[in-house]
Amino acid sequence: MSAFDGGAASLHPETRLVHAGTMRSQFGETSEALFLTQGHVYDSAEQAEARFLNKDPGFQYARFSNPTVAMLEARMAAFEGAEACRATATGMAAVTAAIMGQVRQGDHVVAAQALFGSCRYVVEEHLPRYGVTSTLVDGPDIDAWRAAVTPQTKVFFLESPSNPTLEVIDIAAVAALAKEVGATLVVDNVFATPLFQRPLQLGADCVVYSATKHIDGQGRCLGGLILASQAFIETHVQTYLRQTGPAISPFNAWVMLKALETLPLRVRQQAHNAGIVANWLATQPKLPKVIFPGLKSHPQADIIARQMTGPSTLVAFEVEGGKAGAFRFLNGLKLIRISNNLGDAKSLIVHPATTTHQRFSPEIRASMGISEGLIRLSVGLEHADDLVADLAAALAGV
Ligand SMILES: *Cc1c(COP(=O)(O)O)cnc(C)c1O
Repeated sequence: MSAFDGGAASLHPETRLVHAGTMRSQFGETSEALFLTQGHVYDSAEQAEARFLNKDPGFQYARFSNPTVAMLEARMAAFEGAEACRATATGMAAVTAAIMGQVRQGDHVVAAQALFGSCRYVVEEHLPRYGVTSTLVDGPDIDAWRAAVTPQTKVFFLESPSNPTLEVIDIAAVAALAKEVGATLVVDNVFATPLFQRPLQLGADCVVYSATKHIDGQGRCLGGLILASQAFIETHVQTYLRQTGPAISPFNAWVMLKALETLPLRVRQQAHNAGIVANWLATQPKLPKVIFPGLKSHPQADIIARQMTGPSTLVAFEVEGGKAGAFRFLNGLKLIRISNNLGDAKSLIVHPATTTHQRFSPEIRASMGISEGLIRLSVGLEHADDLVADLAAALAGV
C-alpha cells in the first residue's frame, strides 16, 4: 500500500472521488479490482476464529463485506465527510435498514409526507405492521414536525428536495428539533446528490442514497448507501444488514466505485443543462408551473440558498390540460425518453400520477402536490439545445 491517503480531508472532493478507499492487491493494478468472491479462506483455524471475533482485520463472507464493496464504502465516506458508510443492494434497502435498524415495537416515526412512493410505503404501511406508529407532516412546516412529536418518537425522516415535486425542507431546523426531542434525523439525499448538499454537516444523523441514480449515473446497476457516524452504524445498521442480508453485489459495487470518479463532472453538467431547460420551460405559457431548485421562483428559495451548493438535475412542471395534456406532451417527445428512472446520462421523463405515485388516491396525491398535469424531467448529458428543441416540438403539439 502506498503512503498517499486519497481520502484525506485536506483534499478536494474531486480528488477524493478518484483516490479514496483504493486497496491495491499484490499486482499493483491502476484500476480498482473487482473481487467477485462469496468468501475468503483462512490460513489456520486460529485465524478464522480471530476473524470472527473481529480481532483479525480482513474479510469473511460477502453478506458482511467484500474488498470491492469496502472500497466503495470508504470512497463514499470520504466524499460525504462521514465516519462510516455501508452499501446495500438498493436504495430502498438503505432506507429500510436506516429506519428499521433504529426502532422497535412502541416507537414512533415522524416523516415528511412528500416522499418517493416506496419510502412512504415503508413509513406509512410497513412500520405499523410491527407496532411502530408513524405520522406524516407537511415537511417545510417546522411547527408541524414539533406538533407530531410524542414521547415515543425515535426517528425523523425526510427527502429534500423531494421526489417528484422538489419540495425543500430546512434540514438544520428539523435536525435541531430532533436533537431537542431525543430523536435522530435520517435524510434521503438522492435528489440533491452528495455534490450539492451535505445533510450531516447540517445536523442530520444519517444520510441515505439510492446509488442507482446519480452515483451510477448511467442506468446500469442498483445500489444503496447509508452514511453516519461510526457509533450510529455500529449501533443501528451493522448487525441489521449482516443478519438480514440486503448486501450489494461486488460487481454492482465496482460499477458504483468507478462511477464515483466522474460524479462531479456528470452532475455539474447535468445540473447546468437542467438550469437551461428550467429557464426555458419557465417562459412557456402552456406550463403554468415550473419547479427547479435553481429558479428564484422556487417556494423555498431562501432555504436552498442556505443549505444547497447547487440545484438538482431534476425539473418538475405542470402541463395545461391535466392528464390528457401531459400524455400528449410526453408522446410528442423524441429524444427525451419516457422512463421512471432518474439521474441517468440520458434525459428521462415521467408522469408521476400514473406511474411512480399511481397507487396513492387522488386526494393524497394532491396533498403531495402531484397534480394530473405534473411531469418530472431528469436532465441528462445531452446538449441542452437539443433537449430544449425536443421539449419545444412536443409542447407545440399540446
Ligand atoms: C429511487 C429512489 C429511492 C429508491 O432507490 P432504489 O435504488 O430504486 O431502491 C429512494 N429514494 C428516492 C428519493 C429515490 O429517488
